[in-house]
Amino acid sequence: MDPIVDLDFIDNRTPEQAAACETKVSEETNTGKARKLYIESYGCQMNFSDSEIVSSIMFEQGFDTTSNIEQADLVFLNTCSIREKAEQTVRNRLGQINYYKKKKPEMMIGILGCMAERLKKSLLEEEKIVDLVVGPDAYRDLPNLINEVDGGQKAVNVLLSREETYADINPIRLNSNGVSAFISIMRGCDNMCSFCVVPFTRGRERSRDAYSIVREAQQLVENGYKEVTLLGQNVDSYKWASEDGTESVNFAQLLEKVALVSPDLRVRFSTSHPKDITDEVLHTMKKYDNICKYIHLPAQSGNSRVLELMNRTYDREWYLNRVDAIRAILGEDCGISSDMIAGFCTETEEEHQDTLSLMDYVQYDYSYMFFYSERPGTLAARKLEDDIPLEVKKRRLAEIIEKQRETSLNRNKRDVGKVHRVLVEGFSKKSDEQLSGRNDQNKVVIFDKKHYKKGDYVNVFVHDCSVGTLFGEAVG
Ligand code: SF4
Repeated sequence: MDPIVDLDFIDNRTPEQAAACETKVSEETNTGKARKLYIESYGCQMNFSDSEIVSSIMFEQGFDTTSNIEQADLVFLNTCSIREKAEQTVRNRLGQINYYKKKKPEMMIGILGCMAERLKKSLLEEEKIVDLVVGPDAYRDLPNLINEVDGGQKAVNVLLSREETYADINPIRLNSNGVSAFISIMRGCDNMCSFCVVPFTRGRERSRDAYSIVREAQQLVENGYKEVTLLGQNVDSYKWASEDGTESVNFAQLLEKVALVSPDLRVRFSTSHPKDITDEVLHTMKKYDNICKYIHLPAQSGNSRVLELMNRTYDREWYLNRVDAIRAILGEDCGISSDMIAGFCTETEEEHQDTLSLMDYVQYDYSYMFFYSERPGTLAARKLEDDIPLEVKKRRLAEIIEKQRETSLNRNKRDVGKVHRVLVEGFSKKSDEQLSGRNDQNKVVIFDKKHYKKGDYVNVFVHDCSVGTLFGEAVG
């Protein structure tokens, strides 16, 4: 996939990563339930994973999912607050949904997720068509809240929890390709990055029972899945202890347990925090062929003073040390990606150059790149002045994007002339005669179909590349 260059955001990611900023709509589950739920999910993979939990809870309450909003008795928007644009998208969507509500006045409308948590009850006042507002830790309460709405009330539950992990809920897979699935391993975040709303919308960090995660992976394998991505805001700080205190599991140990479920199950994870990723994790990745050699390690900036203002709790040297450890333990071929913010509060031109030089050093395979925009309620909004003019932010972002295009192409050129093991995810976007899958480093590989099909592992000789895609032919 070639990148779409947008000054607000660059998209040279794999489809899975692109999904992180897309909208997903529920599919049909026609099991004869009395009512229908239509759910649209915005934002990150964590939200998509939560929508699968919500669908499971609502299924028990007598709701099938539908992909047709006109058929819905209940409409949920599972929202994102990471940027103002994400919230505006939801508000615009509510305007459109009003059209359906007018045609079917009994249709219930609910806002879930981070926007619900951030705006709470005020959402009911601001958006009159909304009937219920439910935060990410309150989904078990949905049956009660729906009853309240059925009884003619408006309903709100935005209580955050220190324990909730939904460990016992078996998610209903939505929008699944039947090959890859996400497993949520923890919730919330205890870091307080100064630009981020997540600690306020998703609450304190808590880790899910390790054995419920392994069971979920086993079930996925039994159902034919070939790849799982372990999800958390900061997976490296995963720490679960049994109730009797006799066993504790850290992230490296969890990774090993999931890798051992089946050698045919690929294991990925996201997101790693540079302050927490350990050599133990890297050695575990090296030990198992089925743990993909790819790490999303958001730097955000290449300058230590800016990193301190961002409250990232590491500096440039620490970050580069972690990158050196990845290269030393997992080799030069390990894929690394990043998030970068251009024009954070008080960032000077020299500090921006530090970000570019860090990108030169690391040679990221791809990045998510933004210019800074202030989010209400964050530490930065309260304590720092958003003083970089918009045109400067945009110019710096353009330079970061250009640097990333350069390094993505460099990294992809290294892959040409080599054989890659590719897990097929489906047809390529352009032709049903070609298949699309991903290699170990999470890069999209396109090749002629021959007799291969979705879910196959295929060795592909790569003969060409673009900034975002590898092209090759199957060799067995
Ligand atoms: S690690 Fe920082 S950026 Fe990531 S979710 Fe937590 S606070 Fe937000």
